[in-house]
Amino acid sequence: MGRGGSVGRITDSQQLTANTFPRSHSDIYYGNAGIVRKTVLIFISKLGFMTTTNDKKVVKEYFNATGFDRWRRIYGEGEVNKVQEDIRIGHQQTIDTVIEWVKQDGNLADISICDAGCGVGSLSIPLAQAGAKVNASDISEKMVAEAGEKAKEVLEDASNITFSVQDLETIGGKYHTVICLDVLIHYPLSEAGQMISHLASLAESRLIISFAPKTFWLSILKKIGELFPGPSKTTRAYQHSEADIIKILEGMGFSIKRTGMTSTRFYYSRILEATRS
Ligand code: SAH
Repeated sequence: MGRGGSVGRITDSQQLTANTFPRSHSDIYYGNAGIVRKTVLIFISKLGFMTTTNDKKVVKEYFNATGFDRWRRIYGEGEVNKVQEDIRIGHQQTIDTVIEWVKQDGNLADISICDAGCGVGSLSIPLAQAGAKVNASDISEKMVAEAGEKAKEVLEDASNITFSVQDLETIGGKYHTVICLDVLIHYPLSEAGQMISHLASLAESRLIISFAPKTFWLSILKKIGELFPGPSKTTRAYQHSEADIIKILEGMGFSIKRTGMTSTRFYYSRILEATRS
């Protein structure tokens, strides 16, 4: 199935694989009932496009409004409730793991890093502080503005960090390392797969991503539900199977080098470091 397979929600029995994911419709053999099938496929692919556009639109609006206030608070230092504090601690562990990995290689000052979906700069700012050349971007103007403010406050010299408002699928250029943390939870596998493929194409050497692992799906749903009661306050949360993500990475010529897992009571994030094989 091509991209049309992304319509609707991915269920356990409806997983896409890396092989099926990037295929274009021209790969599909239309057979005898060609016209009908082709029309249906075009219709489905249009729906697929609409779904992608809508998911991004909803996520962008969320992170420019309620989501911005909520996550700025969680990722900040002020007082928060117990659940938010637990998430804050979990998220910081994810950030710390990634910083440790990147520092371990001992070449931070020589490499360029793209932080896609940078939020309020929780990762970008310490990486820039440690000497890396950082390109930070996010689909939400508010998040980017906040990250820029924080950078000004924290960094004595902010000349090695740039911020831009950008959907990660429109990022161009080449970077030694591309990092995308806690963004894929907002997208179903079909869209997350496209995003990973795009990010992989920007990475000369390494890609680090995190996602909500499928194993914890029910608890995440439940816990996110508790955290954001009411439909207007939340976006959909999607868990991903590690095997699916690895297949996509391998399909792009990467292999897994390090893995990490953060789990607190309310926060779960699987971290993969993939390098060009
Ligand atoms: N990576 C950051 C922020 C995680 S919150 C951190 O770990 O601290 C998720 C962020 O992803 C939000 O700031 C949201 O605006 C951003 N985002 C969601 N979809 C995006 C997309 N398609 N392109 C770029 N950023 C996106």
